[in-house]
Amino acid sequence: MRLVLLGPPGAGKGTQAARLVERHGVQQLSTGDILRAAVAAKTPIGLKAKEIMDAGALVPDAVVIGLIDERLDSPDCAKGFILDGFPRTVAQAEALQQLLDRRGLSLDAVLELAVDEGALVERMRKRVEETVAAGGAVRADDNPESFKTRLEAYRAQTAPVSAHYAGRSQLTKIDGMAPIDEVSAAIDRALVGAAVVRG
Ligand code: AMP
Repeated sequence: MRLVLLGPPGAGKGTQAARLVERHGVQQLSTGDILRAAVAAKTPIGLKAKEIMDAGALVPDAVVIGLIDERLDSPDCAKGFILDGFPRTVAQAEALQQLLDRRGLSLDAVLELAVDEGALVERMRKRVEETVAAGGAVRADDNPESFKTRLEAYRAQTAPVSAHYAGRSQLTKIDGMAPIDEVSAAIDRALVGAAVVRG
């Protein structure tokens, strides 16, 4: 199974990707998680990316494309992968196509979690509250100002990625406003419909 999960920040991509990993034993490839690990480990990429990420802007295409290129060959991706947070620009989508072509692979589906933008700031606030209550560390970019920049980056740079896949008849939209279990069920139906998994 090779999937792309699209959707604005706070749409629930991470939550749904984690559920797909559990059910199908595929690898979640989240460029956000990979970059946060690089920041924590203070690698050269992490040191360069930190400020950009904290502000809510996008890290340069070449950096994230390089990260995905490396990860696609790791043995844990042999059963497939769910790309979460990548591609985020049309240039990244085109580069992904090349990375897959080079390996003789293709995407099974591109799923977009469609959400009402008004709900996103509230979801972010809730995520921060729940993280704090659970004693976890709040993401540096989960603050209203960075979140606004992330939404703007989504509108300007990532929304065209949906159009890119829609134009290739690869895009399936899922109602991301439904309760989490219903979103998961809708994703399952879409995967059965696309013959990615058996019903
Ligand atoms: P996320 O966890 O997906 O919300 O990503 C957190 C931050 O990491 C983003 O706001 C960007 O700064 C950076 N980032 C993650 N994925 C990408 C990507 N595909 N392209 C550029 N920047 C990214």
